[in-house]
Amino acid sequence: MSTHGDAPPAGPPDPLEVGARVAELLATGRRASTYKIAVLTALVQHCLEHPAAPGAALRVPIEDLAERVVELYWPQVRPFARAGVLRQNEQDGRSLPDAVRELRTAAEAAGLSTPAQLRAADPARSAHARREIARTLAQQPLFALQRTGTTAPGTPFLYDDTWLRRKVTVAELDAHDWSIELRPGIAAALVRVAGLLQPVLQQWWVDDVRRMNATELDDPGLHGFLFGADRTDLTPVRRPLADLQRGRCFYCGERLREAVHVDHVLPWSRVAVDGLVNLVAADARCNLAKSATLPAVEHVERALQRDDLDALAGPLRWPLERERVTGAAASLYGTSPAGTPLWRAPGVFDLLRPGDGARFAA
Ligand SMILES: [Zn+2]
Repeated sequence: MSTHGDAPPAGPPDPLEVGARVAELLATGRRASTYKIAVLTALVQHCLEHPAAPGAALRVPIEDLAERVVELYWPQVRPFARAGVLRQNEQDGRSLPDAVRELRTAAEAAGLSTPAQLRAADPARSAHARREIARTLAQQPLFALQRTGTTAPGTPFLYDDTWLRRKVTVAELDAHDWSIELRPGIAAALVRVAGLLQPVLQQWWVDDVRRMNATELDDPGLHGFLFGADRTDLTPVRRPLADLQRGRCFYCGERLREAVHVDHVLPWSRVAVDGLVNLVAADARCNLAKSATLPAVEHVERALQRDDLDALAGPLRWPLERERVTGAAASLYGTSPAGTPLWRAPGVFDLLRPGDGARFAA
């Protein structure tokens, strides 16, 4: 048997090494905007919702990342306490959050509260903004992400970025189908470390916003303002969901009394999906006990199987996002370690079994 001294290791990359290298990309050098963190967060979310085999490459449309970046900045462009609208970059001129703020203002003028509602009500406007933001992502964070800190380009271990540049043109983007391609194994690796990486990305994001704004931003509520689950106004769906459940808690079946909570079945802190399929009405007891824990598989299956949701989506102008929820469930249950506690009821947990993820396979 021969050994290959300098040969690169075969097989898919080690997820922990990928996670560490991603963290290094952001930890190196001073971040002049939150765009790189935003695009990386979007990339992780995309991978979570599009499960890939361990060694597979994954084509990621930049416009999909743009859509996610809009959703990330959407709550953040509200005025924050006395500080007003927060700065997210150090340069002057039109910023990504400026573009999102214009969209949000237009949505609110039309009585709409989420990016998904705006997409449904004004597809042309949404598509135009998505294009503009996708181009900005290609020219800035996607181009710069893997070249941090040094004059020599780094090793593009996430995706081939050799065709990207600061002034990348529409024609060049067309030639690449407005997509980047994650190298073999990267998508699955990012999903494996998502639970570790996402809180780190959020904390850096908070630190950057604090630094880019005045000292008065030393506010303990900043993290919740930027990333809290209440960032989307779920009021419009509360009553309809409770009615659909005949006034009973989705999880325990007890009668819903005064405080009806809208709960994200797949925890919002793990996958940012606000579609109706991921939302249920719950009592305070269950909602608070469940918190950010993954729920028992049966809860998710039951949420996915609700056919009567379809009738709500139209009148509420609120998308179902069944595919997003299914993809995210396949990822979360397919990659969390066996034995992970799954919340069934207050004080009652199942343990994740190998193969639970396959129950959500497309
Ligand atoms: Zn309950």
